Formats: sequence, C-alpha cells, structure tokens
Amino acid sequence: MAALPIRITGEPVLHSVAAEVEVIDDALRALVADMFETMAAAPGVGLAAPQVGVDARLFVFDWTDDDAVRWRGVAINPELLVSPGPIGEADEEVDSEGCLSVPGERFPLLRSERAVLRAIDLDGEPFDIEATGWLARIFQHEYDHLDGVLYVDRLAHPFSKAAAKAIRKRSWGVPGQSWLPGRDHLED
Ligand code: ZN
Repeated sequence: MAALPIRITGEPVLHSVAAEVEVIDDALRALVADMFETMAAAPGVGLAAPQVGVDARLFVFDWTDDDAVRWRGVAINPELLVSPGPIGEADEEVDSEGCLSVPGERFPLLRSERAVLRAIDLDGEPFDIEATGWLARIFQHEYDHLDGVLYVDRLAHPFSKAAAKAIRKRSWGVPGQSWLPGRDHLED
C-alpha cells in the first residue's frame, strides 16, 4: 500500500465524466486500499478515483459525525438522490468546503441537506446510506468528482471569482500538477 499523488485542478481526468467500474478484481482492491491510505495521509474525509488519476466511478469516505458514529466505506458505481437544493446564500462559517484537488483553499457552497447514496461495495454487494448534513455534503462532493465537477465549479458569486483568482495565483488550472500526502504539506 502507498499514498498516491493527488491531482490538482486543471488535470483533465478531474474534469471528465468517469467510466463505470466493470469488474471488481485484485487491481481494484489494491487501488481502494491505496485510496484509503491517501485519504488518511492527506488528511481528508473523501477521495474519488479521478483525484488519483484513475478514470473510474468510485470514491472512498471516512468521516465521524457528532454522535461519534464513523462513516467509512467505498462506493462503487454510485447513484445519488438529493433533496432539493436550499435557496439563499452560502455561509462562510457553516458551508465552507474544501477539496484535496484544490488544496489549502476553502469556499462556502450551499448543498442539499439530505442525500441517499446507492452503490456497491468491494464484495459487489449493494448498499444504501441515507445521509444528512455534512455526510450528505461529502457524498454530493465526491459524487460530483465522478461527473468531472469540482465544488469550485458550483460556487456562487462572489466566491466563484475568489476561487478562480486563487487558482490562477497558484498557477493551477493547467494539466500535470499533483501533490503527495506525507511529502508535500498543504493545508486543506
Ligand atoms: Zn474534492
């Protein structure tokens, strides 16, 4: 097992619709193990395959809620049903989101309060999770990665402008950039 380099915004795999997983084999199991290690090292609460340069519809998550319940798993070929999005303005205190592919930056984004994740696990078994609050946010964020959408693509004015400026300032937004958790120290 090894931590994998995390691709930074601008890399084409992050901005394309990922391919369905066709077969669950040893290579896929090894990828998932490496993704868990990468997510823990980053650290992060979710990581999608395109973020480690793999064109596949799967993500991992590991998040502990306020009741000390740990939500940890892998979602392969997921579907996501979301409640209607809230109306209003994102709050910098409670809605600020980050992404390991836009490391060190955070911007507020409104997300649906509820989401139902349906996917299969590494044994090929289907499962679903009814999520609310931050877990619902994680699922929406990771699911978007599989459709080539980053949270910064969804920001409203003025945060969209601030994010574009931050990305330009760091010379991101072009292919070929990555960072390695454990070696490169970038806050998220
Ligand atoms: Zn992300």
